[in-house]
Amino acid sequence: MSETTSLGYAVVGAGIVGICSALSLQERGLAVTLIDPNPPAEAASYGNAGVLSTWSCVPQSMPGLWKNVPQWLFDPEGPVALRWAYLPKFLPWMTQFFAAGKAERIPAIADAMLQLNRPTLDLYRRFLAGTGHEDLIRDSMYVFAYRDPDKANLDNLEWRIRTDRGVPVEKIDGNALHDIEPDISADYKAAILVKDQGRTIDPGAIGKVLTEKFLSAGGALLQARVQSLKPLDGGRVELQTDTGILTAERVILSAGPWSAALLKSHGLKVPLESERGYHLIFSDPGVTLNNSIMVTDSKFAVSSMRMGLRCAGTAEFAGLDYPPDYRRAHALAGPAKRLLPKLNTETREVWMGQRPSFPDTLPAIGNIPGLPGVIAAFGHGHLGLTAAPMTGKIVAGLAIGETPNIDIKAYSLERFGNT
Ligand SMILES: Cc1cc2nc3c(=O)[nH]c(=O)nc-3n(C[C@H](O)[C@H](O)[C@H](O)COP(=O)(O)OP(=O)(O)OC[C@H]3O[C@@H](n4cnc5c(N)ncnc54)[C@H](O)[C@@H]3O)c2cc1C
Repeated sequence: MSETTSLGYAVVGAGIVGICSALSLQERGLAVTLIDPNPPAEAASYGNAGVLSTWSCVPQSMPGLWKNVPQWLFDPEGPVALRWAYLPKFLPWMTQFFAAGKAERIPAIADAMLQLNRPTLDLYRRFLAGTGHEDLIRDSMYVFAYRDPDKANLDNLEWRIRTDRGVPVEKIDGNALHDIEPDISADYKAAILVKDQGRTIDPGAIGKVLTEKFLSAGGALLQARVQSLKPLDGGRVELQTDTGILTAERVILSAGPWSAALLKSHGLKVPLESERGYHLIFSDPGVTLNNSIMVTDSKFAVSSMRMGLRCAGTAEFAGLDYPPDYRRAHALAGPAKRLLPKLNTETREVWMGQRPSFPDTLPAIGNIPGLPGVIAAFGHGHLGLTAAPMTGKIVAGLAIGETPNIDIKAYSLERFGNT
């Protein structure tokens, strides 16, 4: 590489958000380089639960949630874990997380979530059309399975948030659940179906296939780690990388939970946390699911995929660099077996990935105050696979100076006030 290489548009981070952003920029006729030290779609975008959650609008932080946290933290099968030595670093984020769960903040967050998630199936199908891999995406319901039928209550706040926004839901009893998913235990006495959703049978493959499409249409992939970003006169941006210096017309910053580090040297401190999640794959499961299932009492998702039955979820707060604790993944086996009594739990694969999470569930999308030419596309938390195509569409428009035809204020980094 010469001392300074001049690029067209640069996308930093080849997770699913970066890949969708690169494709959207390319669709605008722009020359695009996707930059990542690692192969595309191998971080969180590889091992997630594959739910294309078209209708997702319930924030992670909800009124009263804090009451459950102590009990969850001490349950080895519980949905949340904390490395206690990490608590001092985690406290400010946690405080903002609970503040975001105040009842008066929920409607605006829910609307902003839906706006990003709603178009996912159409946009993915358009991206995948003609690749020969259209079958990576399936129509699906999101089946929230309950052992205690009283808990399947459409009057609960969580469900009212959905029904107030027109989400197509239906409550069914255990017999009807058995008709839809014959392998689910009869101990599950009720379910709430979220209809008209999608799922993928291989999340990592979507990223790989779309990267191939991007490259075959003339896009470039550069194996490099971006170390710093510097706005230049005239609107261009300099990228210092471990393989040399580049300049770009505009930069999309989509480095998942690693994005915050690139803002620090500009005095921008953003409350982005690594919310570590695990998956456990049973590669010879002996059972099949037809939809994405949410195991409501343990709060993880289960889906039949190409590589087997994947259980994925849980939240662990331990920082970006702490080694995985795969006991968290194996802990999913007990509840999975209770859900699916005929499940063969012998052959297993475990994985850990890091969700880039802001305390209010919403990502950062848009211009970055004090960093002209760099556009944020990170922080999608639990829903990055779903929200990636719409994010890509928005940032591609912003990169060429268009005003989005939807309100994107809710995703502004300025909402945190300290930027
Ligand atoms: C267990 C689990 C289950 C989930 N289930 C779902 C689900 O069912 N549905 C859903 O919608 N979402 C789900 N998610 C969330 C989703 O996976 C993430 O939100 C999404 O993958 C984030 O994508 P990303 O592109 O922002 O980040 P990543 O996939 O983390 O990619 C970031 C990329 O940036 C690169 N990078 C880092 N630093 C640099 C640098 N300095 N220079 C260049 N490149 C850099 C990394 O190498 C990486 O490739 C789940 C997540 C987990 C962990």
